[in-house]
Amino acid sequence: MVSNANDKKKLGKGTKSVHSGTSPSENSLNTPVYQTSTFYLDDKGYKMWMAGEPRAPVYSGRYYNPTNRAVERKIADLEGAEDALVFSSGMAAICTTLINFLGQGDRIVTTRNLYGGTVGVLDQDFVRFGIDVHYVDVRDLEAVENALKEKETKVLYCETVTNPLLEISDLPALAALAKKYGAVSIVDSTFATPISCNPIEYGFDLVIHSLTKMLNGHSDLLGGTVAGKTKVIDKIWEKLRNFGGSMDPHQASLVERGMKTLQIRYERSTETAAKLANWLESHPKIKKVIYPGLESHDDYELSKKILSNSGNMVSFVVNGGDDEGRKMLNNMNVASQAISLGGVESLISMPYATTHASWTQEARVAAGIDLGFVRFSTGLEDFDDLKNDFDQALSSL
Ligand SMILES: *Cc1c(COP(=O)(O)O)cnc(C)c1O
Repeated sequence: MVSNANDKKKLGKGTKSVHSGTSPSENSLNTPVYQTSTFYLDDKGYKMWMAGEPRAPVYSGRYYNPTNRAVERKIADLEGAEDALVFSSGMAAICTTLINFLGQGDRIVTTRNLYGGTVGVLDQDFVRFGIDVHYVDVRDLEAVENALKEKETKVLYCETVTNPLLEISDLPALAALAKKYGAVSIVDSTFATPISCNPIEYGFDLVIHSLTKMLNGHSDLLGGTVAGKTKVIDKIWEKLRNFGGSMDPHQASLVERGMKTLQIRYERSTETAAKLANWLESHPKIKKVIYPGLESHDDYELSKKILSNSGNMVSFVVNGGDDEGRKMLNNMNVASQAISLGGVESLISMPYATTHASWTQEARVAAGIDLGFVRFSTGLEDFDDLKNDFDQALSSL
């Protein structure tokens, strides 16, 4: 075990994935599951609790749990952050974090090009609480600056890689704009993972992940996290305590185990995704492939600057529209039709019937999600098996 903090900073992400945070006890190699709702109220816990200090070891989840803490330390180390918090889901992490900064009349500047659940809670609930949700295209830096200039803004919020168009946000430029106008910068970096990108290094204040996806990686739970400076994380902890979206210790134990193989899973599935993207691009039944590692991608240059790894997500458009796309999905044998992403198994879905089902066809196409648009999350199956699966499914069209 490497325990010296200075030595730890120099370690690679594979080593951090395995060792950071892992908290042995009583000679156990792995972090035990502290499956308890409460703790003996000793002097230390009592004093911390009475002083309102964060993470008083008196009550689980909403206050403190050592199993959860192991995951938090692992995420903080991988992100190069001072500290982190875990939550029951990605949405709990997003809502609890945003609520810490936004009250009645406060403005958040963000983009419509976000995870559907995030736009949903902003439009359906944050607006209801009198929060000024102001949308701009975050790829238009001038528009972002104008929005920040126009009215005092508490939060600038975006995603590193968007779903399903896989557009890349210019994180260093956005962080600099937020700083210039005194807004807190927050990014949901779920699609990039801490292996490919550390937004805090680019100047972002906080980075959020849905642990449900690549970080846990086994499609067996929901979870979320936020990482940043201790002072800020401690404030968000108060909201976690108040709102209660806490992670269960059994869930934390599974996340910790999943994260130990994060780097190797992410790198292997990216390698396969890149090969598939190349192969699909030359397939006669495919109209277009969208993958940040392809030179044909609009953000290819930016992605090389921001990401160390083009990721496991591949989007493409099938000739013949949604019906042909659906037919192809129904013919896939190795990849499964399901929403979600980032698991060991490849998953395939069509936004028109899933994430964008509530959109009109015109709005969807105008947003760049063409008829026949397919989203593919590359898992750990062999490339040849996935390629052959696509080949046979496409040959039926
Ligand atoms: C899935 C996802 C979320 C929501 O996470 P849950 O764990 O399902 O609550 C948020 N952001 C992104 C980018 C996601 O992919």
